[in-house]
Formats: sequence, structure tokens, C-alpha cells
Amino acid sequence: MKQVAIIGAGIVGSTAAYYLSREEDVQVTVFDDGEGQATKAAAGIISPWFSRRRNKAWYKMARMGADFYQKLIGDLAEDGHEVDFYDQSGVILIKSRLDWLDELYELAKVRKEESPLIGDLEILSYEETIQRYPGLEGFEKVLYASGAARVEGARLTKTLLKASGAEIICGRVGFEKTADGRYRIGEREFDALILACGAWLPLILKDHGLDVWVRPQKGQINDYQFDHLETGLYPVIMPHGEIDIIPFGNGTVSVGASHENDKGYDLTLDQTVLDRQEERALPYFPQLKEAKNRTRRVGIRAYTRDFSPFFGEVPGLPKVYAASGLGSSGLTIGPITAYQMVDMVMGRQPELEPVEFAIEKHLQVVVDEA
Ligand SMILES: Cc1cc2nc3c(=O)[nH]c(=O)nc-3n(C[C@H](O)[C@H](O)[C@H](O)COP(=O)(O)OP(=O)(O)OC[C@H]3O[C@@H](n4cnc5c(N)ncnc54)[C@H](O)[C@@H]3O)c2cc1C
Repeated sequence: MKQVAIIGAGIVGSTAAYYLSREEDVQVTVFDDGEGQATKAAAGIISPWFSRRRNKAWYKMARMGADFYQKLIGDLAEDGHEVDFYDQSGVILIKSRLDWLDELYELAKVRKEESPLIGDLEILSYEETIQRYPGLEGFEKVLYASGAARVEGARLTKTLLKASGAEIICGRVGFEKTADGRYRIGEREFDALILACGAWLPLILKDHGLDVWVRPQKGQINDYQFDHLETGLYPVIMPHGEIDIIPFGNGTVSVGASHENDKGYDLTLDQTVLDRQEERALPYFPQLKEAKNRTRRVGIRAYTRDFSPFFGEVPGLPKVYAASGLGSSGLTIGPITAYQMVDMVMGRQPELEPVEFAIEKHLQVVVDEA
């Protein structure tokens, strides 16, 4: 029986646990600290097709990542799990100029050819829009795509971990290499490791003389609870600018998120940032003021120097696989990234070309000055 440890139970670690547990002769153990986890704090928008990023490898991974949810949700449902944390609610995009909306529509039509999941694309008038999202304001026309989804990250990971049947051990851990080429965590030994540590990957690799260029990015999000709104029927709203408005099925509407590169691993809620997000959302959805209750979340994303995600075997540490740098689209690309690493652990060729997402691009060896 192959013993595999996964360190980190965000979207990457929990998806890896689920798919590894479906392999024969593999026993999976998951170690997770959980504090500041990005997945629990995420807004949960799965809609990569409107991105203007020029990084082709990233876009390929993102569109395939959105498609991969169909498999993931299908597999969980087939195993008898509730999957209502994922919903193709559609998305409404608002631009400050109408010609930008038309340009985006043309781009989306082209992208639909390789990504039919994008669904129906329509430019909607104000009247047509408020039928889908009552109370929405601050626009003349919008672009609507029916295939975009929202996902509740915390419920998804909980379901994946439960479905995996893996033993979950809470707390922060490190690992050591043994004389016979295995890896030790505490008292236990493993044949292979998956480091799904998100923004904390540099800390665990530093002990092995490796300096990986991954930085923490703080993200804060506001959640509003309503008694009287059927928010489960509303699409996600992506206005021009940094904030998005994400309605969920239980009367919750989330607004966020911040992208703070200068706060390190600080998890303090910052009222100024949260208030600014609310101010930016109010012109589109004034009913936020009527929320019966408000809560806030904070999490730490991981980003790299060129904002590219990576995954693969860690140089100098055979059978140790790491992924990080998933940035603001990590819920979209997390599951497919994990699936590639499961293939690598099992000795199979992953579908995404590892060289395009090589960890080496983000690594330098630490010179021990002692
Ligand atoms: C506010 C916010 C909004 C977002 N919105 C979206 C969105 O709308 N759409 C989208 O696609 N993405 C979104 N993201 C991005 C996405 O959430 C992240 O990129 C993704 O969740 C990262 O997943 P991960 O598994 O790599 O890391 P994480 O989810 O951060 O998980 C890493 C886990 O590893 C644990 N860990 C680390 N080191 C150790 C150790 N040594 N021992 C034990 N445990 C350890 C951590 O405690 C943590 O639980 C958002 C992120 C934030 C913060």
C-alpha cells in the first residue's frame, strides 16, 4: 500500500485527497492547519472566459479548470454526496463603456467555440437585467453568460475530505527525508507527499534549502444576510473594477474582495477596506443597506512574480509534489491542478503540460551562510 501525505486541505489538498482515495492501494493522510486558508474565504466565482490576461498557459488552465468542475461535481454526486454548493447561476458583467461590453461579447463568442460551458451569451437591457437580478442598478446594458458558476469553497472542501475517507490531522507540520528515501511527518512515514500549502509553501520548503518566490496576498470579503430575498436565483455580478457581488442560495450576498500585497500573513479584519468595498458595491445593489446581518471573512492567497500558478515535483525532493501561486482564480484552477498532481503521484502523464507550470521558474536555492 502506497502511503501518501497531503499537507494543506484547501481546494488543492482536498481535491487531491478525493482523487487519490479513488486509486487502488493508496492510503491518504491529510495534515492541515487551516488558519487563513484562502479557500474558506473565497468569493467562489468560476467564470474565467472574460479575462484579458495574455498568459496563454494560464488561460488554458483556467478554462479547463472551469470545465473540470463538471467532472468533479459529477463524481461527487455519483458517490452520493450533496453538491448544491456549486451552482451555474450565470454572470452579469457591467462595463463603464458600452463599446467595452460589445468587445467583451465578441471575445466571449470566440471563446465559446472551445468552451461551450460558457452557455448562452446575451447583451441585456436594464429591464431584462432586473428580471434576473431585482434591485440591480447603475448600468444601461450588461453582458450575461448563463454557464458561469459560484461555488462555496468551505463546503466543497468539507465534502471532498469526507468523500476521501482520509485521516485528517489538524495542525501545522513540517517533514523530513529519511535515509531510505521516504518522508517523515511526526512519527509517520510516507512514500510521497503533496504540498498543497497555498501561500505558506515558502515556509515549509525553506527547511529544505529551497527559496520559492511565492508571496501572501490578503483578501477580505463582506457577507450580507437577507431574510426576504431569493438570492439563490440571482446571477453573480462582476462590475467594472475590483469588487464583485456574489449571491448564494441561503439568503447571503458576498461582496469583495480586496487584493492586499503589503500585509504579509496578517489576518486582522480592516474596517476601512471592508467599508470601501461596500461603498463600491452600493451603487449597484443599494439593498445591501437592508441586510439583517453582516459577517466578514479574510484569507491569504498565494501569488508569484509573474502571477503564474505552478505545480510539479520539487527539485531535490523526489516524490514530493507542490502546487501554489493560484492567485485570485484558485478556486477555478485548484481542482484541475490537484488532478494533475494525482496523475504525477501515480506515475501517469498529466493532461496539462508540467513544463508550462514548472516550479523551477519560481525557485532559487537558499545559500546557507552559516
Ligand atoms: C477573499 C478571496 C476571494 C477569492 N475569490 C475567488 C474567486 O471568486 N474565484 C476563484 O477562482 N478564486 C478565488 N480566490 C482564490 C482562491 O481562493 C485561492 O487561490 C485558492 O483557494 C488557493 O487554494 P490552495 O489549496 O492552494 O490554498 P489554501 O486554500 O490557502 O489552502 C492551503 C492550506 O494549507 C494549510 N497549510 C499550509 N502550510 C501548512 C503546514 N506546514 N502544515 C499544515 N497545514 C498547512 C493552510 O493552513 C491552508 O489550510 C479568492 C481568494 C480570497 C482570499
